[in-house]
Amino acid sequence: MPILGDADVIGLLDEHQRTLAFAEVALGQIKSLRQPAVPRNYEIWYVYATGYNAPLNKIINETLARQGRLTESDLEQIYETYLSQLRTTDRIDKVGARVISEIDDVMALITDALSMTTAFGHNLDGATQKLGSAHDLNTVMTVVQSLVKSTLEMRENNKALESRLISSKQEIANLQQSLEAIRAETLTDPLTGLGNRKYFDRAIEDAVKHALDHGEPLSLLMFDIDHFKSFNDNYGHLTGDQVLRLVAMSLRATIKGQDITARYGGEEFAVVLPTTALRQALTVADHIRRAVMSKELKKKSTGEILGRVTISVGVSMLQNGDDTDSLIERADACLYAAKRNGRNRVVCEADPEYSPTDHIQVA
Ligand code: GH3
Ligand code: MG
Ligand code: MG
Repeated sequence: MPILGDADVIGLLDEHQRTLAFAEVALGQIKSLRQPAVPRNYEIWYVYATGYNAPLNKIINETLARQGRLTESDLEQIYETYLSQLRTTDRIDKVGARVISEIDDVMALITDALSMTTAFGHNLDGATQKLGSAHDLNTVMTVVQSLVKSTLEMRENNKALESRLISSKQEIANLQQSLEAIRAETLTDPLTGLGNRKYFDRAIEDAVKHALDHGEPLSLLMFDIDHFKSFNDNYGHLTGDQVLRLVAMSLRATIKGQDITARYGGEEFAVVLPTTALRQALTVADHIRRAVMSKELKKKSTGEILGRVTISVGVSMLQNGDDTDSLIERADACLYAAKRNGRNRVVCEADPEYSPTDHIQVA
């Protein structure tokens, strides 16, 4: 009877132990990077330790790999982009304002550079004239000296311009990342890190269109945790949330590549399997079902056995004349049939249990 592995257990540790473990990691990072231990930095590192905010971890890892430390402005930007409670539109406005100010700076630089080039051109013209009419060595020397001087100035200016443009390029790349992170966050379910409903609606639309255009098979799995309400009632909502994370982890571990996974609703999940026909989709569905069931949930602090969670899965495959809604409706009807026939099972539209007139809404 497999007990949760260490990686799985953190989700089910006693809340006190779990949060202390995150706090220790957070303080350790602040100490080793010699950052001020202010609440903002603590929050950044605490969330980093939980691993729930994947884009935050990615940007921190990348920044540390690139420059070995996080500057004050990196921390501020990371906090604003990934953690601050500002509404998404406000954050987009802020990033937008920074893009505009960066563009203004670059435009001013280019204008300066152009006027310097024009002045240099005038210098050259003047020098050419003077050289043409010069009759003695001293005049030639004076003209050459002034040419050397303005050439050196031009070179210095070019160097300054180049380094400013390099830093501007980096700033614009950072801003692009910020926008990408905001976009990703609006499509991510914060509890499980899976795609949210909005993400799912878009992704399935694209995948169905692609499959229909190319005559490729496509299958859809919809699954729902069995008797989850009683699990919540018995052990509390927080433990229920950990179980949702655990189910998401089992799902992620089973699904690969181009497959699209999302939290469809409360304790309902959906998986789109492009280029996958029904038989293969049933195998995937059963892998997920077994992966979830294989874990015995145990509270580490008390040793209390919380039991197992099981899921019921409905599977439909794209047919001619289908659209996204009809595909989802059939998967949902299969899921309902799986519940009605005892739960902890996979039902597809080819099974005798399936009835197309079944209630659409499972929950
Ligand atoms: P069934 O086997 O028929 O699916 O039974 P069920 O109890 O799982 O189904 P039902 O739809 O009646 O209950 C769903 C429950 O899921 C309601 C709520 O307690 C729980 N739930 C939904 N969203 C969340 C969430 O975000 N966190 C937690 N902890 N529980 C949730
Ligand atoms: Mg349920
Ligand atoms: Mg439900």
